[in-house]
Amino acid sequence: MATLKLTVLGSGTSMGVPSIGCQCRVCRSPDPFDQRLRPSVLLQFANRNVVIDTSPDFRQQVLRTGVQRLDALVFTHGHADHILGLDDIRPFNLKQKSEIPVYAASETLATLRRTFAYIFDGSPSMSSLPGVRLNIIEGPLQLFGLTITPIPAEHGDMGVLGFRFGRAAYLTDFSSVPKSSMALLGGLDDFILDALRYEPHPMHSNVEQSLALLAEVKPKRAWFTHICHDLPHAETNAALAGRCPGTIVQLAYDGLSFEVQV
Ligand SMILES: [Zn+2]
Ligand SMILES: [Zn+2]
Ligand SMILES: [Zn+2]
Repeated sequence: MATLKLTVLGSGTSMGVPSIGCQCRVCRSPDPFDQRLRPSVLLQFANRNVVIDTSPDFRQQVLRTGVQRLDALVFTHGHADHILGLDDIRPFNLKQKSEIPVYAASETLATLRRTFAYIFDGSPSMSSLPGVRLNIIEGPLQLFGLTITPIPAEHGDMGVLGFRFGRAAYLTDFSSVPKSSMALLGGLDDFILDALRYEPHPMHSNVEQSLALLAEVKPKRAWFTHICHDLPHAETNAALAGRCPGTIVQLAYDGLSFEVQV
């Protein structure tokens, strides 16, 4: 049975935790589990490294994880907290002497083209530019022998893609999951999913909504991500214990890493 190693590079919401200028108890917490960079995960398999989303903390995340090469980027959607680190792939371009393939839905590719117009407008540049090759996600991806299946979901008034690989799935930034995508979430060992906070939010699943989804999906383990400063790590984990019979539910954290059967 083949395995991949999944590492959570960032488990925080768009502003990160601590948030700039905030004096709340989580932002001032000495617990390292209460420090959350912006959302991203790393998949390592067959000597390949695939990163889902280039957060504004991409450079720091890659440095502290010791990633030596980058083989592909996959994007969930085009919000700033998921794409703004794209410029920092340049050292990989230089080291590998190649472009990095990028996979995203067509709307997300349009956002990348607009946000990073200097990469794509063809105007001469005296400095280095990120080298990318854009590919539209229209169905399951085959990357270096791994099948990555997109899971379309709603993120407020826009679309977002979750991804399934073997017995794990990653679904950040969703407000609801359509019935057609629920079938893609059966038989999971590990499910990493958005649970921003306790309070409802128009674009994000909250703790109660994500627990309700887990009661249907029934993975062995669930890890909440895209977490804001309303959720202290240890206290929230204690409150989550036993909330979803048959599923161990915990907050994800930066550096969380586990093997996935694929
Ligand atoms: Zn986000
Ligand atoms: Zn705070
Ligand atoms: Zn978003």
